[in-house]
Amino acid sequence: MGTVSDYFGSMVFDDRMMRAKLSADVYASLRKTMDEGSELDIRVANAVAEAMKNWAVEKGATHYTHWFQPLTGITAEKHDSFISPSPDGSVIMEFSGKELIKGEPDASSFPSGGLRATFEARGYTAWDPTSYAFLKGKTLCIPTAFCSYGGHALDKKTPLLRSMEALNRQALRILRLFGNRTAKRVVSSVGPEQEYFLITKEMYDARLDLRLTGRTLFGAKSPKGQEMDDHYFGVIKPRVAAYMEDLNQELWKLGILAKTEHNEVAPAQHELAPIYTTTNIATDHNQLTMEIMQKVAAKHGLVCLLHEKPFAGVNGSGKHNNWSIATDEGQNLLSPGATPYENAQFLLFLCAVIQAVDDYQDLLRISVATAGNDHRLGANEAPPAVVSVFLGEELTGVLEAIETDTPYQGVQKTQMKLGADVLPKFNRDTTDRNRTSPFAFTGNKFEFRMLGSSNSIACANIMLNSAVAESLKKYADRLEGAADFKTALHETIQETVKDHKRIIFNGNGYDGSWIQEATEKRGLRNYPTTADCMPHLLDRKNVEMLTSQGVYSEEELKSRCEIMLENYCKTIVIEANTMVDMAKTQILPAVEAYSQDVAKAAAAKKALDPSLACLYETGLVRKLSALTDRIAEKTEELATALLSVEDAGNIEAQSMRIRDRILGLMGELRLACDEAETMTAKKYWPFPSYADLLFSVK
Ligand code: ADP
Ligand code: MG
Repeated sequence: MGTVSDYFGSMVFDDRMMRAKLSADVYASLRKTMDEGSELDIRVANAVAEAMKNWAVEKGATHYTHWFQPLTGITAEKHDSFISPSPDGSVIMEFSGKELIKGEPDASSFPSGGLRATFEARGYTAWDPTSYAFLKGKTLCIPTAFCSYGGHALDKKTPLLRSMEALNRQALRILRLFGNRTAKRVVSSVGPEQEYFLITKEMYDARLDLRLTGRTLFGAKSPKGQEMDDHYFGVIKPRVAAYMEDLNQELWKLGILAKTEHNEVAPAQHELAPIYTTTNIATDHNQLTMEIMQKVAAKHGLVCLLHEKPFAGVNGSGKHNNWSIATDEGQNLLSPGATPYENAQFLLFLCAVIQAVDDYQDLLRISVATAGNDHRLGANEAPPAVVSVFLGEELTGVLEAIETDTPYQGVQKTQMKLGADVLPKFNRDTTDRNRTSPFAFTGNKFEFRMLGSSNSIACANIMLNSAVAESLKKYADRLEGAADFKTALHETIQETVKDHKRIIFNGNGYDGSWIQEATEKRGLRNYPTTADCMPHLLDRKNVEMLTSQGVYSEEELKSRCEIMLENYCKTIVIEANTMVDMAKTQILPAVEAYSQDVAKAAAAKKALDPSLACLYETGLVRKLSALTDRIAEKTEELATALLSVEDAGNIEAQSMRIRDRILGLMGELRLACDEAETMTAKKYWPFPSYADLLFSVK
């Protein structure tokens, strides 16, 4: 295999390859498109296509695909062969600029939320030159955007690119105000930390719920769970280590900068963190990472669970979206810096984020909303469903000083007047850690911690980029017209702190009293479920912001709301149906068989000696009988309730019906079944227990 530096990126048509395989003028022209978003002409596209194909064919590729991210949340591809007949009967490998730039997948089955009438079912994919093409097996994958013929975005990449553009536009305006004339572009970067579970294939196969829904719908608590904290950062088991090694290799070949890995809090839970990169590429890479994690697991006889909550009573899996913004000259705009000039600029960008999170709390909550993630948010393991910002004491102190025009009482007792005084230099390691905050400043970036492990990171970053662009736009509009820049700047920051400090919270987000304070005293929003938050996507203020920033059209937003609610309903209905199936065909027969055997045992004992009381057997049979009655009753109730979900009306009403009725019944059925599990002899139980699952990998 060679050393890592030999094979790193060997499956990517990256900058090194482009430079090597393209003529100088084609390379320069492509680079301009990539860096500055300038248009690509067909002559350049043809040359790039030819070079890409030659590179891929040399590495054994036979096919190419436009790789895209439809609204299902996973990625899609349709393979076409390079083969083209030649007059002499042989074949040549062909790939034109046209084929590189545009594809027409027959993609009518992808959800479009009403955006695409059947007569324009086909939609098209368009090459995204800002993300490198790569090889997967024998297929050259070309990252693309996916749109309808009417021009509506049917994917996640298109709005993500638009949001990056919006942020770039507004951030440059601010930089110019601070006298920066040289930066050409401002880009947001992300490093997503990915959590996951590993269990053995045998265990997985033995559970219908895992196979159909990705999570366990039943399962009594394991006698040992995560209470010892002995797994967190613990020694990695050999089988897991072999998996991680293999996984790293596959990711590195694809140029994905997987860097750290460790055990997480729950048994069988692990984490992988990449080095951060441009949001667009980070999003593509995270999709690929999730795909490859599952593929490599299969090779090792394992299954990688990416569900947000595979096991009740054990921590779920999330994704930490580390986010920052930087100029093409390498200046991180969220880095406090050392000079007054940098400080003032930093504070303005900081304010932009604070205001964005406050003004668009609902959009951030919506961006992570799925049926799976609803189990985590607010469950004392992940940040609550209420969005707030953690800044740490030092920075909060600085903002308070500015707000009240009082001397900053921190390290240096100086009056915080912008442009004149020096902001205390932050030592990253002294910024206190707060793991309970949904949105935490960590020295030179923000960590958005509400994402679920299976979420595409696109949605969260679309909302984040757009909302911050909106704050920056407001500031730029005001400051560009100001007679005295410094005074206007000071006032802008001061007012922002006054108006938005309610979103800043440095305390324990897991504390029940925080939710009360947040909602009752501070007026922050609390949307516990997807059904609660999703309709707010279409609130006037949100539609206005997202359309004016050019990120979504109103139709696109309507379609997304529809699709997300549909997805929520479908997910839970499938889970509920699986529960009904398992209760009827696995759990009830198992408990029944066990009670019969216990009853038989008692009868046999009595036949032997009629004076025996058989209290144990009689008591157990009675209890089990009461439980089977309850299980049967709850199963029927759930099955009946499921039949009437569609009668509720439109998708929003259906999602409410599910939230109010189905979720509760699922909980009740589970409770009865889990109790039965604790009383039924193990050899009768029809599928592996929590202990079997969580400690399956040796
Ligand atoms: P922490 O100690 O705060 O968790 P790490 O250095 O371990 O920070 O990084 C955690 C994740 O944050 C990694 O994926 C890393 O690449 C990413 N990260 C670091 N700096 C930035 C940045 N400026 N922008 C975006 N992500 C970043
Ligand atoms: Mg982290």
